[in-house]
Amino acid sequence: DLWEARGHLRFEDVTFGYSDDRTILPDFALDIPAGQTIALVGTTGAGKSTLAKLIARFYDPTRGRLTLDGVDLRQLHPKDLRRAIVMVTQEAYLFSGTVADNIALGKPDATLDEIQAAARAVGAHAFIERLPDGYATDVNKRGGRVSAGQRQLISFARAFLADPAVLILDEATASLDIPSERQIQEALGTLLADRTAIIIAHRLSTVAIADRVLVMEHGRIIEDDTPAAL
Ligand code: ATP
Ligand code: MG
Repeated sequence: DLWEARGHLRFEDVTFGYSDDRTILPDFALDIPAGQTIALVGTTGAGKSTLAKLIARFYDPTRGRLTLDGVDLRQLHPKDLRRAIVMVTQEAYLFSGTVADNIALGKPDATLDEIQAAARAVGAHAFIERLPDGYATDVNKRGGRVSAGQRQLISFARAFLADPAVLILDEATASLDIPSERQIQEALGTLLADRTAIIIAHRLSTVAIADRVLVMEHGRIIEDDTPAAL
């Protein structure tokens, strides 16, 4: 009954604009095999976030189609789509509730063991245990105690637990201290394994771990190569 996506994404001549008078992506074609890690880079306004939002189906193409494992995204059941494709945004936003609730957001029936396993996998367990009430800490009340890097790790744990076939990550531009930076980098390695990942990358270290780097300009891909070749 449950549809399991493999994670093969394909843009077939996708044209998209937020309004009729301005095209952001013109006849865009791109094939991303299942399991590939893509680093998406390019100047501001190039269309990187727009591409991500089309994959997450915040918007649909004006023309052409976007498929997952050969199925038009518009034909997928919303439940299947939400399970298959997860987007982690720059803000790494925390919702009101406990740390555990925040990690379990995409999988409300998760047990505390599963929540902790996800936190361990991305290296978030140690700092969570040091919070006043551990996993039961209310992130609103003690929000000030959770740093930007820690918020990111919590959202990584959330994505790890949700275990989507496709993960989209709009990497934060804000700089973190060096230990946090290293921790995020290690967590990324774990998070990206065994799934298709598209990272809007701002860090060179992230570009380096990608299988493939796409450079975007004015809604087009102007370079498509391995990190080493670029
Ligand atoms: P950045 O590196 O600054 O995040 P980006 O590559 O993610 O840039 P997009 O956010 O995809 O770029 O924007 C591409 C173009 O679409 C820009 O010209 C932008 O002004 C426009 N745009 C983005 N979002 C909207 C929107 N909601 N409504 C109208 N135009 C938009
Ligand atoms: Mg953007």
